[in-house]
Amino acid sequence: MNNFDKELKELKQKHSYRQIPEIEEKSGEYVIIDDKKLLNLSSNDYLNISTNEDLAKEFMQFVADSPLSQFSSASARLLSGTSTVYRDLEKVLAKLFKKEAALIFNTGYQCNLGVISTVARKGDIIFSDKLNHASIIDGMKLSEADFRRYKHLDYEHLEELLKKYRKKYDKALIVSESIFSMDGDIADIRKLVELKKKYNAILMIDEAHAFCSIDDNMAGMSEGLDVDIITATFGKALGSFGAFAVSNKTIINYLINKARSFIFSTSIPPINIAWTKWLLTEKKDFILKQKHKLSTLVIGAHKYLVSSDIDTISESQIIPVVIGDDERTVKIAENLRSLGYFILPIRPPTVPPNSSRLRLSLTANMDFESIKVLINNIKDEV
Ligand code: PLP
Repeated sequence: MNNFDKELKELKQKHSYRQIPEIEEKSGEYVIIDDKKLLNLSSNDYLNISTNEDLAKEFMQFVADSPLSQFSSASARLLSGTSTVYRDLEKVLAKLFKKEAALIFNTGYQCNLGVISTVARKGDIIFSDKLNHASIIDGMKLSEADFRRYKHLDYEHLEELLKKYRKKYDKALIVSESIFSMDGDIADIRKLVELKKKYNAILMIDEAHAFCSIDDNMAGMSEGLDVDIITATFGKALGSFGAFAVSNKTIINYLINKARSFIFSTSIPPINIAWTKWLLTEKKDFILKQKHKLSTLVIGAHKYLVSSDIDTISESQIIPVVIGDDERTVKIAENLRSLGYFILPIRPPTVPPNSSRLRLSLTANMDFESIKVLINNIKDEV
């Protein structure tokens, strides 16, 4: 048996083996699997935009017979130019975030990889929250900078590390998510701004789960704060695909010239860029309405969890219920599926060892009564 087989067998024995779940249909807040309709609590489509057929139809009419309806860009932007719609979307983003400039990347993964490995180089240091996303970790590894990980949301620990290491390096980069993808808790961005100023560092915030979700408007949780670089993805609340960084003109021009994940990859198809721009401009009121529905649901769900004595660290639409043991987490997720809920068990290495969990993502179209019934069912299971 080769090593691949051996490793896969070990994963199976540890209940950590992953398979891509097959979904017959996604429809609003539901999925159909094996002919069964399940409430989908495993989606990042927080505003239920990606499965909204009326929106899709309206957009297809909007782009019909225009060059925007092309399904391939056929090259990287630097190689054969960029169509106007990319620039237009970048202008919309820069304005939304009140920054000088924006740059679209193909995915949030490529964006974090590109930004971090370009801004921080050999001789620099990166300080990263311990629970930051894999794309941030991989960006740090690629950067060749030294990095130190501070305990999750522990800014005293971050300051200790800054005091100890900052002076020895040229540039310093502090990186954090705003809403954390697996815990649903929220960084203290004001505190991070204070520390970056005190220790002369660059502050980067990944707003992947906050952009267009439950932030006050649509510009993430860093809005109005002195954050140097903001990254986010279109693939979650906005129901589209792709990602972006916003910053000052110098950093954006530097990324255009140096970020390899931007330079050496075919750009997103024009039709998709047009969809993202259309949503952010023509459908702003719809987004705000869905966001309001989601925020109301989140507040209600959190109160109900407290009154049901279920512990969660969540402050957002992402609600983890930590079970700990991998096998038990898988079993509970299976039981909940038989009761009509699609909740994927999240296991290491996505989360730290012994913190396997059910990760519930609330989406705007869910109704509060169903969430209460779900919480009652979880209480019976855990
Ligand atoms: N950053 C965070 C915090 C994420 O949770 C994700 C999840 O996918 C990404 C970045 C990557 O974004 P994308 O899916 O667009 O690659």
